[in-house]
Amino acid sequence: MKMTLTEKILARASEVSHVIPGDSAMVSVDILMTHDVCGPGTIGVFKREFGEDARVWDPEKLVIIPDHYIFTSDSRSNRNVDILREFVADQGVRYFYDVIDDGGVWRFDPNKSLALPQYGEQYAGVCHIALPEKGHTRPGEVLVGTDSHTCTAGAFGEFATGIGNTDAAFVMGTGRILLRIPETMYFRLVGELSGGVMAKDIILHIIGDIGFDGATYKAMQFGGEGVAAMSMEDRMTVANMGVEAGAKNAVFEADARTHAFVDAAAQANGTVRPYETIEPDVGARYVYESTVDLSSLEPTVAMHPDPSQRTTAHACRDVKLDRAYIGSCTGGKTGDFEAFARVVRGKRVVIDTFGVPATPQVVRELKATENGGRSAWDVLVEAGVNMTVSAGCAACLGGPSDTFGRLNEPLSCISTTNRNFPGRMGHPDARIHLASPYTVAASALAGHIADPRDYLE
Ligand code: SF4
Repeated sequence: MKMTLTEKILARASEVSHVIPGDSAMVSVDILMTHDVCGPGTIGVFKREFGEDARVWDPEKLVIIPDHYIFTSDSRSNRNVDILREFVADQGVRYFYDVIDDGGVWRFDPNKSLALPQYGEQYAGVCHIALPEKGHTRPGEVLVGTDSHTCTAGAFGEFATGIGNTDAAFVMGTGRILLRIPETMYFRLVGELSGGVMAKDIILHIIGDIGFDGATYKAMQFGGEGVAAMSMEDRMTVANMGVEAGAKNAVFEADARTHAFVDAAAQANGTVRPYETIEPDVGARYVYESTVDLSSLEPTVAMHPDPSQRTTAHACRDVKLDRAYIGSCTGGKTGDFEAFARVVRGKRVVIDTFGVPATPQVVRELKATENGGRSAWDVLVEAGVNMTVSAGCAACLGGPSDTFGRLNEPLSCISTTNRNFPGRMGHPDARIHLASPYTVAASALAGHIADPRDYLE
């Protein structure tokens, strides 16, 4: 029986020879991830259902990453991190990327400079970028997390999906999860992106084609010769937004580039674990197939209020903006900021522009890279971008009112993030337009939506 990549991964993880879409399977989980928003709730359900003295199924396979509501003086948000710390100490969880190093009590100080990190060496930033950076993503594995954008890890050739607190509590206690096998949609990527076009444009284009519910409870599998030229960051950007089309998971076939990234991250962080890559069967049945010619794509924008409202940057140049934002698990990676810097180098933004690196590693890389004597970080600051070293989710999810970059008024914003439903970044009447780092940078220079090809040399 021929199987797609998702089907093969789930068949192996449930120890059966084959699965077919619609079947239910009890799947063994390799990694369970949770964070400060859902972790306390998951822990509560775990204790209620398994008992106050219950132990997690495997303290080496639970990864806890505070990242969402961190740099805020909201006391309940700060307290959530304390709850995670107490649980980790009690359970002996190995991979807890705490905000502070001393095991004390986390409290954010809003009076300290944005240029000074208020976190320790362990802090890892946004979970979906921290997971691969720290070597927790591996081809062929099953990774579940209490966050819808857990699908990002599918970039590494594994099954990765977001789950709710109740399912996560069950995984915490048993290491297993009951899943319905999704049908698979296949996207064959051919050609190469042209100048001014980025991975974000690929996924905005695809969501525009199939709609924000076009992949509901389906696997989105990406393959084809166009993948070879895509960096791991590019693949993460595409997989990250699979859920914006309703997908259960998004997955890329692993290649040499995948293995090099995974092995280097694991070596650097002491997280080496054997893994076995899985390839889809030739002749597998897909419920939908399409070919995307990357060379034909243009800088793309998803207009408010949902990610499928596709147009081109060129076509909506009359849309005025009050705010630009670069950050999040979709658009806050090192390559995203470097692209932004390429556009704004030597120029000044004309609207309020906020930059939030996804992780402390991104902060370090942006400060370390030199181009013409200036680091990417310097270029952004000199262009007038409000940069913070407080890496995390920040205003992507709105957050408490003191969150850096939050839309506290009904502003018109262009953003490298992934969701633009009403209220997503704060104010319910704010308008959010999603675009690539190139397009957001060009728009920050223009004060209206702009085509980055007019600004790139
Ligand atoms: S950066 Fe945004 S989308 Fe990503 S995990 Fe954080 S809140 Fe969710």
